[in-house]
Amino acid sequence: MGAYFQNIKNGFKSAFEGMSISFATMFVRKETVQYPEVNISTNKTIAEKYKGTLMGMPANSRGILDVNLSLCTACQICQKACPIDCIVIDNVKCDKTKLEDEVGNPVLNRFTQKEALKTRTVTRFDINAAKCMYCGLCAMACPTTAIRHTNRFEMNTESQEALILKFVSEEEKARAEKKANDIEAEAAAKKAKAAKEEKVKEKGAEE
Ligand code: SF4
Ligand code: SF4
Repeated sequence: MGAYFQNIKNGFKSAFEGMSISFATMFVRKETVQYPEVNISTNKTIAEKYKGTLMGMPANSRGILDVNLSLCTACQICQKACPIDCIVIDNVKCDKTKLEDEVGNPVLNRFTQKEALKTRTVTRFDINAAKCMYCGLCAMACPTTAIRHTNRFEMNTESQEALILKFVSEEEKARAEKKANDIEAEAAAKKAKAAKEEKVKEKGAEE
């Protein structure tokens, strides 16, 4: 009979000990989170309750690619450098412009040290992040540093389509194509005018 009550007592004691540990941990900062459902880099409320240190990725890590279109000359060198065809670039003519970086300095072509000139603009710049092996060959080949790795590595999604990074929107594409048509029309009009003037000159010379 004594053993029976002793077992009940032990049962209560161990339940109490277990619950006291669970109860105590409810009020201390957490060391683990349910990643990726809980992401402490985007969820501030959770981050405040987190006990560990966020290390992040090193600044020079080869993470998800990013493209600065204002520095891109549409030369397609990165597309050719990619060994597994992750990059697709389409382009059209644009007004000739010198490229400048964020602080207003001219962007130098890394290979020739000449100022980088833009004569074409991209109407499509897609990178298939699902296929990319993050080798860095495209970024190394780019003469203007327009394409570069970030230190981001998270792209969890259930859709393959969402892993195709599109850097040119449909509106930007339409605007660039319209501009290219205007440039072509202007050039054709100039050519026609010059030809007409030439004919008039020739006629004048004959008379
Ligand atoms: S990092 Fe490598 S695989 Fe990825 S797009 Fe650039 S060249 Fe291609
Ligand atoms: S190599 Fe650089 S400048 Fe040339 S198309 Fe690629 S991102 Fe643009």
